[in-house]
Amino acid sequence: MIQKAKGTKDILADESYRWQLIEEAAQETFENFGLKEIRIPTFEYTELFERGVGDTTDVVQKEMYTFNDKAGRSITLRPEGTAGIVRAYIENGLFSKPSPYKVWYKMPMFRYENVQKGRYREFNQIGCEIIGTSSYLADIEAINIANTFLKKISIEDVKLKINSIGCPTCRKKYQEVLKEFVNENINMYCSTCKSRLDKNPMRILDCKEEKCKKLNKGAPVILDYLCEECKEHFENVKNMLKQLNINYDVDSGIVRGLDYYTKTVFEFISQKDGYTVLAGGRYDGLIKELDGADTPAVGFAAGEERLLSLIEEKQPEDFKTELYIATMEQNQMKKALEIAETLRKYIVVETDICSRSFNAQLKYANKIGAENLLVIGEEEIKNNTAKIKNMKTGEEKTVELNADSIFDSIIEFE
Ligand code: ATP
Ligand code: MG
Repeated sequence: MIQKAKGTKDILADESYRWQLIEEAAQETFENFGLKEIRIPTFEYTELFERGVGDTTDVVQKEMYTFNDKAGRSITLRPEGTAGIVRAYIENGLFSKPSPYKVWYKMPMFRYENVQKGRYREFNQIGCEIIGTSSYLADIEAINIANTFLKKISIEDVKLKINSIGCPTCRKKYQEVLKEFVNENINMYCSTCKSRLDKNPMRILDCKEEKCKKLNKGAPVILDYLCEECKEHFENVKNMLKQLNINYDVDSGIVRGLDYYTKTVFEFISQKDGYTVLAGGRYDGLIKELDGADTPAVGFAAGEERLLSLIEEKQPEDFKTELYIATMEQNQMKKALEIAETLRKYIVVETDICSRSFNAQLKYANKIGAENLLVIGEEEIKNNTAKIKNMKTGEEKTVELNADSIFDSIIEFE
C-alpha cells in the first residue's frame, strides 16, 4: 500500500471543520484591520528564496524542496510566504497602490525538516504583510492583529516575546563583538555555525544544536549596540504595547530564522509546550534586496498546526443532512432532484446517488442521522402529495409535493 509522504498529513472530513474555524477567525480579524487576501504561486524560482530568505539560513541551507523542471530551471516549493509576496509586490507594481499595502494569506509551506511533533514537511501558515511604512505604529499594528487573532480563537496561554535586532548600521559593530565571542570557542561549534562565522554570525545565535546553544550562553546582546534610531524605535514599540495593555517580555535570544529581519522581531510562545505559534518582525531590507525600491515592511506568520494543537476539541458545527428524499423507484428521481435543487438554497438535502433499493436508502438516511425523510413513490407523484417524517420524534405529516410546502413542514417540526 502506498503511504503518504513523510512529514505530510491528511486532514479528514471530520476534522476539517476545526481548520475552518481558525481560518474564518483569521479572515475576520485581518479584514477588520483592513487587510485583503493575497494568493501567490506554490513554487518560485529558487533564486528568490536564496536572495530573499538568505543563503546562510537553515531554511535555504537545509530545508528547501528544490528541483529542476523539465527545461532545467531551478524551482523551489515555497518554504515561507514573505519572499513570494514581496516578489509579487514588485512585479505587479503594487507600490503605486495606496501605501501601506496590507495583505494577509493562508497557504501551505514546504520545508525538509526533521519531522517531530509540531514540525512537518508540509505545513500551513496564516500570516500578513504591511508594506511601505517604517513607523513603529506598523509594528504595533502587526502585534495587535496577531494578539486579536489569538484571542479570537481562544488561545490565551501564550507569551509575547519581543526583541530588536537593529539595522545594518548597528549590526556592523555588534557582529564584530559577537564574532570575537564565538571565535574563542569556535572549534566546539557545529560545522554549520563554523561556516556562518564570517558570512552571518547572528545566525549562530539561532542554532538548534544543544552544544551550540550552551556555547552561546553569555554572548553579547544586540540590544546593547543599537543605534539611536533603532533604540528610539524599540522604545516606542515597548511604550505603546504598555499603553495597549499587551503584555510582553524582552528576550534578546529572539533573532528569527530568516535573514531579512530588521529592528523589531517578535514571537508568541505557547506556555504549554514552549512552541512558537506565531512569529514575525520588521524586514526593511528585503524589498530592496529583491530589486525593488527601498521600502520598509513588517509582517508575521502563524503555524496553523501549532495553533490547532492548543485549541481544545470543539464539537463540530451542526452539519446535519436536514432532509433525505427517498424514492421507491428510479423513475421518481427527476421529481426528487427538482425538489432538492430548490430546497438546497436553504437547507442540506441528500438524495440517492447509488441506485440503491428503497430499503437501503432508508438505512443510509438513518446512518447519517438525516433529520427529516421525504418518501416519493408512484402514488405520491400521481396525487402530488407525500409523507414527510421527522426522524427524531417520529412525527409524520402529509405535504404537497413542492419545495414550499416541504420547507414549511420542516420548520413546523422544529
Ligand atoms: P522554528 O525556529 O520553530 O524552526 P522558524 O523560525 O523556522 O521556526 P518561521 O519560519 O518564522 O519559523 O515560521 C513561522 C511559524 O510557522 C512558526 O512559528 C511555526 O508556528 C510555524 N512553523 C514553522 N516551521 C514549521 C514546521 N516545519 N511545521 C509546522 N509549523 C511550522
Ligand atoms: Mg525552522
